[in-house]
Amino acid sequence: MAKTTLHCSFCGRSRDEVKILIAGQEGHICENCVDHAQEIIEQELSTRQDGTSTSGFKLTVKKPIEVKKFLDEYIIGQDDAKKVLSVAVYNHYKRLQQKPAEGEVEIEKSNIVMVGETGTGKTLLAKTIARLLNVPFAIVDATVFTEAGYVGEDVESILTRLLQVCNYDVNAAEKGIVYIDEIDKIARKGDNPSITRDVSGEGVQQGLLKLLEGTDVLVPPQGGRKHPEQKLIKINTQNILFICGGAFDGVDKVIARRVNTNAIGFNVNKELQEHMKKNLLQYINATDLKNFGLIPELLGRLPVVTHLNPLDAPTLRAILTEPKNSLMRQYKKLFDLEGIQLTIDDEVLDFMVEKAIEYKLGARGLRSICESILTDAMFELPSSKETSFHLDLEYARLKFDKSKFNLLKVA
Ligand code: ADP
Repeated sequence: MAKTTLHCSFCGRSRDEVKILIAGQEGHICENCVDHAQEIIEQELSTRQDGTSTSGFKLTVKKPIEVKKFLDEYIIGQDDAKKVLSVAVYNHYKRLQQKPAEGEVEIEKSNIVMVGETGTGKTLLAKTIARLLNVPFAIVDATVFTEAGYVGEDVESILTRLLQVCNYDVNAAEKGIVYIDEIDKIARKGDNPSITRDVSGEGVQQGLLKLLEGTDVLVPPQGGRKHPEQKLIKINTQNILFICGGAFDGVDKVIARRVNTNAIGFNVNKELQEHMKKNLLQYINATDLKNFGLIPELLGRLPVVTHLNPLDAPTLRAILTEPKNSLMRQYKKLFDLEGIQLTIDDEVLDFMVEKAIEYKLGARGLRSICESILTDAMFELPSSKETSFHLDLEYARLKFDKSKFNLLKVA
């Protein structure tokens, strides 16, 4: 039988014309074609780094005014925070597009801290920005982390979440946004760290430093502890934007001390205190956060500090109806899908706000209040022949009074 000469299945060169011929299942490839293929892969990947990614995330950079406009559609008030965030995010992504040549000015990352009571829209702001920019976005809670080696999660699992969001597309993850909630809960406990090891406070802050500064981090793809048998994924955090949020309960007193306002005390009435608290938060800066218990190294990597205002009655009222996907619009849509037109009296909206304030539930509570009022209607109407439903104050009051909220009142 004649001996057949082997050829490269890609370029057709024979065995004699090449140095190496690698055998595949049904063909061969020579070293020249391997090199060529490698170049194509590199080219392809570098174009993807400029924007597109395998997980469908395509970075869209918007000017600060456009970002703010978009935020305005979904979030009521909080103008300061919106402005600061818009600029920080814009600069961050401008920085991403710049590939600084040797010796050129390098723009540093602008990680952000947002300070504001719970339920004032911190997470919503971060989420909305991520949606606008179309980048992977992960929310993590700082309270679950402990220093490596202790019961709890390692800080690297923050990046695991980001990877999971974008289907393990490392390229996309490296340009994502991470929102770290409750950053205030990892403040240093007390001034004397030597008595007991502060594994869920300062220890975690130290761990976070590594992520925030922009280095290669080895991430366990399934989260959890780093098991030796788990193959780790390398992620560079240089271009990941970190937004941290926290209520920083009591920081107002720290600010007051700094700005030398000693009006806050026992003899000042509650209303005035609340008012001052709201006003004080706008003066917050890194020094106050340091005095609260964040370590200076961490603060150094969180250069942008902004605040959110507490939500007053007019803001809560606006939250019910104004945002693009406001609760009222959502309920109207739900009824609409059943072929039922939902109309709501203004008084009902005022009533909801009143209850949210009375029970100290904030914006988050508005939803449960709506549910308590509308659940019966949503249960019964789909099986009826009704084509409209009018929600008036009498009905709302009746349903609300029968709901679990009354139990709260007793307590
Ligand atoms: P935080 O992160 O500050 O605790 P969130 O962003 O999770 O609060 O807010 C909880 C919910 O309250 C949001 O999902 C949103 O429905 C509503 N909300 C809070 N603040 C606002 C706001 N300023 N504008 C519109 N909705 C808001």
